[in-house]
Amino acid sequence: MTRADPQIPVEQPVAPPGVRHSRGVERLVRGQETSDGAGVRLTRVLTQDLQRRLDPFLMLDAFGSDNPDDYIAGFPDHPHRGFETVTYMIAGRMLHRDSAGHEGLLQNGGMQWMTAGRGVVHSEIPQQESGVMEGFQLWLNLPAHDKLRQPWYRDVQAAEIPRRHAAQGVEVAVLAGSSGGLVGAVTRETTEPLYLDLQLPAGASFEQALDPAFNAFVYVYRGELDIAGQRVPAQRMAILGNDAQADGVVLRAGPQSRALLVAGRPLGEPIVQYGPFVMNSQQQIFEAVRDFREGRMGGYAG
Ligand code: FE
Repeated sequence: MTRADPQIPVEQPVAPPGVRHSRGVERLVRGQETSDGAGVRLTRVLTQDLQRRLDPFLMLDAFGSDNPDDYIAGFPDHPHRGFETVTYMIAGRMLHRDSAGHEGLLQNGGMQWMTAGRGVVHSEIPQQESGVMEGFQLWLNLPAHDKLRQPWYRDVQAAEIPRRHAAQGVEVAVLAGSSGGLVGAVTRETTEPLYLDLQLPAGASFEQALDPAFNAFVYVYRGELDIAGQRVPAQRMAILGNDAQADGVVLRAGPQSRALLVAGRPLGEPIVQYGPFVMNSQQQIFEAVRDFREGRMGGYAG
């Protein structure tokens, strides 16, 4: 029907903004217990076998412990090339130093965004001997034309992360992208990552518009959510379906909950990973290993 149809009043309001059709949950993922660095215990939530499905995201690690033995050794000098690392600290303090001369203290609620580009060598070392260390590291791929770009780095303290109060008392920290008109701490062309940290009171709902072409997931780290009728308990990642009819996602909290909502535009390019190097071909991996061995990713600045 059209507005010219005499059955429809001319002043009929347009539909209110908001998500009309939520994406559903395609799959729940538990993550794998592992250790990395010099023996840091963590849960690898987004594993290598999901890189294609969740393109442009390559990895999500969740770490959380109040036992120093699980984290104290940290991540001594190691290289990266071809992607970006985003470390978000819920609790604890970690010192970052890299071969490009950057140094920064990442702490309670702060984020560090590092674009490895053509290569950096860095270390991430806890600055506490007791207490809780909790946070996440997300790896975001770079498009082929940016893989060898100049490294870039930014520390964003908790107070500098844009936050908004959404309906029903939901608190939204916009780490990247934009939500409800609020632009986040970092934005990126090409992959247009959205990275939200959500705090939902018991029973509250939150909705976020999402481009149907974007790959998206939710990681619940406190409480429990309901997404289109699917229960998503804590310590689970819900991969959201790419339903062409869906214009976003609606999350509803059971008890008071906290969750990450992550989405981005897939690159659709070949993904070849060898440890800390993620390139488009085996040849480029050989070059990365050679450049690292020959010191062309920079020596350690410390
Ligand atoms: Fe690293």
